[in-house]
Amino acid sequence: MHDSQCDDPRGIREGATGIQAASRMLNVAVQAVIFDWGGTLTPWHAVDHEVLWRDVCTPHFPAGQAAGVAAAIRTAEHELWAETGTAHTSATLAQVMERAGVEPTDALLAGYFETWDPHTLTDPEAAPLLRELRERGLRIGVLSNTMWPRSAHERVFSRDEILDLIDAAVYTSEIPWAKPHPEAFRAVMAAVGVDDPAACVFVGDRPYDDIHGAKSAGMRAVLIPNSDVPPFDEAVPDAVITRLSELPALLDRW
Ligand SMILES: [Mg+2]
Repeated sequence: MHDSQCDDPRGIREGATGIQAASRMLNVAVQAVIFDWGGTLTPWHAVDHEVLWRDVCTPHFPAGQAAGVAAAIRTAEHELWAETGTAHTSATLAQVMERAGVEPTDALLAGYFETWDPHTLTDPEAAPLLRELRERGLRIGVLSNTMWPRSAHERVFSRDEILDLIDAAVYTSEIPWAKPHPEAFRAVMAAVGVDDPAACVFVGDRPYDDIHGAKSAGMRAVLIPNSDVPPFDEAVPDAVITRLSELPALLDRW
């Protein structure tokens, strides 16, 4: 299983520029490891968003309205994610609610995040991995395409005792762009305080957003293909791992 790691990215790149970039990269010491969140630091969970929003709305709206409100929110959410997919612009939960014409009361939002709780459990291998990387003196970053506010993510990281192991996180709800836009990768580099993208390793589960995005930004990219996401054949990871605990051995070879 571990043989899926791509030992020589130079062999599968085209043109002298790619070879030079790859050669240079292999001579640059890794300073930061930046993780995607969903499907990477959390094991992938298939979530039925229609059902989830209905469960969220049911206690907060009259019986005859809850399903309609849930459908309007889901449609707005779907449309905004589609815009992120094509334009690489970010969106927020507040925009979803505004588009759906729904007042995002504190009670509704609290119920929403609570309903997500069982789907956001951090991979048990994450904390020991992050500790080991920090012991090596590496900076730890997170870059997540998300509509959620920072507070929601930090609550999850705090619950699972990894918040203090992360040096800096960029949530795209706080910036105009989303992965694979290069500005999203620049933002997380600035946040972790590393200037050279070649000194950054990005770990993610989405070939287009994570792998293509990180490689285009000049980073090394590690794919952890554990989720049901669209393929993107042009995105060639520098390595593929099947679980987070494989990462230190891979970094040893770099
Ligand atoms: Mg992901």
